[in-house]
Amino acid sequence: MTTPRLLSERGGGFHRRQELRPSGRRWPGAPRPGAAGRVLIVSNRLPATVRVEDGEVRLVPSSGGLATGLRGVHERLPGLWIGWSGAVGTLPPQDQRAVDRVLAGTGARSVPLEADEVAAFYQRYANGALWPVLHGSAPEGPEPADWETYRAINERYADLVAEEARPGDRVWVHDYHLMLVPRLLRGRRPDVRVGFFLHTPFPELAAWRALPQADALLDGMLGADALGFHVAAYASRFARAVEALRGVPAPLVSGAGVLDDAGRPVAVHATPMGIDVDAFAARSTDPQAQELADGLRGDGGPLFVGVDRLDPTKGIPERLDAFGRLLDRRPDLRGRARLVQLAVPSREDVPAYRALKARVETLVERINARHGTADHQPVHYVYGSVDATGLAALYLAADVMLVTPLCDGMNLVAKEFVATRTDDEGVLVLSERAGAAAELRAALQVDPRDPEALTAAYERALDLSPAERRVRMRRLRQRVAAYDVRRWSDDCLARLAPPPAAQPAR
Ligand code: UDP
Repeated sequence: MTTPRLLSERGGGFHRRQELRPSGRRWPGAPRPGAAGRVLIVSNRLPATVRVEDGEVRLVPSSGGLATGLRGVHERLPGLWIGWSGAVGTLPPQDQRAVDRVLAGTGARSVPLEADEVAAFYQRYANGALWPVLHGSAPEGPEPADWETYRAINERYADLVAEEARPGDRVWVHDYHLMLVPRLLRGRRPDVRVGFFLHTPFPELAAWRALPQADALLDGMLGADALGFHVAAYASRFARAVEALRGVPAPLVSGAGVLDDAGRPVAVHATPMGIDVDAFAARSTDPQAQELADGLRGDGGPLFVGVDRLDPTKGIPERLDAFGRLLDRRPDLRGRARLVQLAVPSREDVPAYRALKARVETLVERINARHGTADHQPVHYVYGSVDATGLAALYLAADVMLVTPLCDGMNLVAKEFVATRTDDEGVLVLSERAGAAAELRAALQVDPRDPEALTAAYERALDLSPAERRVRMRRLRQRVAAYDVRRWSDDCLARLAPPPAAQPAR
C-alpha cells in the first residue's frame, strides 16, 4: 500500500500552523472602554501560544477542544481572556511590552510562569497527580511543594483576574488547573459573578478522597456561583464529595440543583459541551479534504480510524490489542483492514506519558510484524497533529471511527466525526465511559476494559447493514446538531446572570 500523502510524515510535519499577526484591529472580544457586563474567560492556557523571534511577536493559535470552543464566546462577547501564553520565564522588558501589546490587541492578558513553576504546577501537580485522580486512578503521591506551587499559581491567576474585573463582570473559570480560583476570587472581588466549568470527569468518592488536597480543592470550587459539569453523573459525584466534606445533604436532581456554601447558593448544573457543528459540516464538502480522504481509503479494505491525544485515559493500547485480535480471528480481513491511529503528542514531560508512547509503539510494531505483508501494513501510526483539513479527511475516510477511552470527560472527537459525516456513512464505536456516551446513544457503545467486547464491537461495526448504518448516523448527527458549542456557552453563561435582588432598579 502506498503511504497516504496526508500521513506521510511523523512528528507533526504536516501540521500547517496558521500565524496570527496583530492587524491593529480589535478582536470582537477585545475590551471596550466603559463596557459593562463583560465575560472574563480564565483558563490555564490562552487560545494562542506566544513566540518571540528577533523581537517580533507571533501568536500561534492553540488547537484542542477547550480553546476552539471558547474562542467563539470570546469573539462574540466583550471581555478578556486571561491565561498563560506558553512563554516560559522572564522576557527582556521591551519584548514583554510587545507581547502585552499584541495580546491586549486580541483581548487577552497573560499570566507569567517560570520554568520551575510550569514543572511543579502544570506537569507534576495538575497533570501528574490531579488529572489521574479525576479520571478515577489512585494519586501518585503529589509532593507538598508541588501542591504549594499549585496554590500559589492559582493565587496569581486570582490576583490578575481581580485586577482586571469590573463590577458586574462575569468571570468564567475553566478546568482542573484552576480549581482554587473561584474561592480566591470571591475573597478578592465579591462584586463579580464567578462560574467554573470542569472539563474532566469527577470521580467516585473513594478515588477523590485519596487525594490529600481533595478538601481544599473542593472548597476552592465551592467559591463559585455556578459550577458546570459535562454530565449528570459527574455533578452527582461532586455533590456526594461535598456532602462528605460538609456533613450536610447536597441533593441534586438529574445533576442539577443548588448547594449551600455558608448561606450562599451555589448552582450546580450538567451542561454537555458541544462543537461548532456548522464548521465541521462545511469541511465535509471541502474538495481538498475529500481528496485526502480518498488517498487514505486506499484500495477499498475497511478503514478504522482513531484520533486522540496520546494520553493514558484514551485507551489506545486496548484499542490496538482489539484490532490485533480482530485480525487473528478474521482471516478474511487480513491484507485488507487497516487502522490509522493519529496520536497527538501530549505532556511529554510527564513520565507516564513517555512510558505510554513506548508501549504504543511496541504494540504497533508487534501487530504489523504479525499481520503485515510486503504491500500491506495493517496499523498506520502517526505521532503528530493535523490541521482542520487533515482532521476532516480522517473523519471522512473512516468506515469505523474508534473512540474508546477508558475514561473521558466528554470527548469532542466523537462529536466532530459525527458532524463531519453529512453523507450519513461511517460507524462510531464509542466507549460507554466517555461523557459523550450520554448523548450519542445511537453509537455502538462498548466497555473498552472488556477486550472481547471491544473486538466484538469492531466486528459488529463492519457487519451493520447499510440501512442501519445510515439510520444510526442520522440520529447521531441530529443529536450533535441539537446542542452545539454556542448553546453550551449561552447556557453556562446564563447561570451567571445576576440574582434578581442584585439587578439595578429601572
Ligand atoms: N485535535 C487537534 N489536532 C489534531 C487532532 C485533534 O486539534 O491533530 C483536536 C480535536 O479536533 C478535538 C480535540 O483535539 O477538538 C480533542 O478533544 P477531545 O475532547 O476529544 O479530547 P481531549 O484532548 O480534550 O482530552
